[in-house]
Amino acid sequence: MSQESAKIKYITPPLPKEKEYDPFMEATLQFERAANFLDLDPWIYQRLKYPEKELTVHLVITLDNGRVESFTGFRVQHSTVRGPAKGGIRYSPNASLSECKALAAWMTWKCAVLDLPFGGGKGAVICDPLHMSENELRKLTKEYTLAIRDIIGPYKDIPAPDMFTNAQTMAWIADAYSQSVGYLEPAVVTGKPVHLWGSHGRAMATGYGLFFVLQEACRYLGLNLEGKKAAILGFGNVGSSIAKLIHKAGCQIIAVTDIFGGILNLHGLDPFELEKHVSRTGSVVGFPNSEPIDNETLISLPCDFLIPAACEGQIHRENAANVKAKIILEGANGPTTLEADEILKDKGVLVVPDILANAGGVTVSYLEWVQDLQRYFFSEEEILKKTESKMKKAFADVVAVAEKHQLTLREAAYVLAVSRVADTLAALGRAA
Ligand code: NAD
Repeated sequence: MSQESAKIKYITPPLPKEKEYDPFMEATLQFERAANFLDLDPWIYQRLKYPEKELTVHLVITLDNGRVESFTGFRVQHSTVRGPAKGGIRYSPNASLSECKALAAWMTWKCAVLDLPFGGGKGAVICDPLHMSENELRKLTKEYTLAIRDIIGPYKDIPAPDMFTNAQTMAWIADAYSQSVGYLEPAVVTGKPVHLWGSHGRAMATGYGLFFVLQEACRYLGLNLEGKKAAILGFGNVGSSIAKLIHKAGCQIIAVTDIFGGILNLHGLDPFELEKHVSRTGSVVGFPNSEPIDNETLISLPCDFLIPAACEGQIHRENAANVKAKIILEGANGPTTLEADEILKDKGVLVVPDILANAGGVTVSYLEWVQDLQRYFFSEEEILKKTESKMKKAFADVVAVAEKHQLTLREAAYVLAVSRVADTLAALGRAA
């Protein structure tokens, strides 16, 4: 069969309505739309549809109370076509292999949108980090690292923080990996503390990236940031950093939720005070001068910017029609389902997709990796300047594809990303 006649339309049937949200199915459908648009060769399509590698590990640690407990963890490498796999590690009771596969694929596309020399990976451990001591988390992290040690490394797969992991977690990973190879290898993970060869600017990197992209999105719509109202779902690393940056730029944050509940104040919440409250109490709940609110109410609030910054699938077919924001800035990965996307498109809401919007984190991770490999370090100012120019260039690249082909920003970002990875695969000549 000739290459031309072998081309087909790729169709994964959508999940039946009654089935639960499946992140990898969502990621596959997003990829397939771009594959169809680009008329990808079948061998390229097949190589990019499934992850290259999926590792499941079982970890055993002794808890502080003396009980021996086992935990399941994953590391998925979706693609290493353009460079080592890159992507975070999540600790969550709801983590699953399907979630890791989706998040790993999104990392491949995100790195391609930013034109970084990485593929995509993701890892997770099923655990309840909010009910574990620091000692238990340290032991679990070291066990997990030893279990995935053979497939990670500075030129193979470079983990980073994600939900409920942080710079300390990355330091433990760097240590377990370094002990196993026999020398300090900081380039095996990013998002480390600065005193362990982490990068300046990493802690706020995803927030800064979101902020630069929001500035561009406002410019694109002819809006001024100042005086606008924002609602933020999730107040961890991503949610709190974008909150502080837009507050400083003169926006009002009217509502914030986290896993325990939420708060509303139509006159504005101070994210700096809120951050202090969260570090004292562990949650946004009970912040002075605020009313309680839930995720569904937050999503339907009259505001200019809706910023999902927690987990996947929060904006879906049941609530998308209630969105009143002009811009959805996706801080989280996969917060909007495909069905919701269609509804939002009809409503004229500008959705700045995750694989573009929240790429500030991986961009600074890339800079951290470059610094670690060279043992030569940049100032925070240099990091921010490089991040700003990369994020703004990516936004312009996506808008150019969107305008040329009359696509949404998400469709355009996927077309751009998939075409970049496909071009690399074709150049490598890996035809099946
Ligand atoms: P985090 O653990 O620091 O914070 C997560 C926040 O979301 C917490 O406030 C938590 O309480 C809240 N949350 C969790 N489930 C919730 C729910 N059902 N409803 C409301 N709030 C909920 O995690 P993070 O690093 O800020 O990551 C948040 C999202 O951003 C994830 O989707 C992650 O994949 C994505 N992301 C993170 C980075 C990064 O650099 N950390 C980069 C890109 C994308």
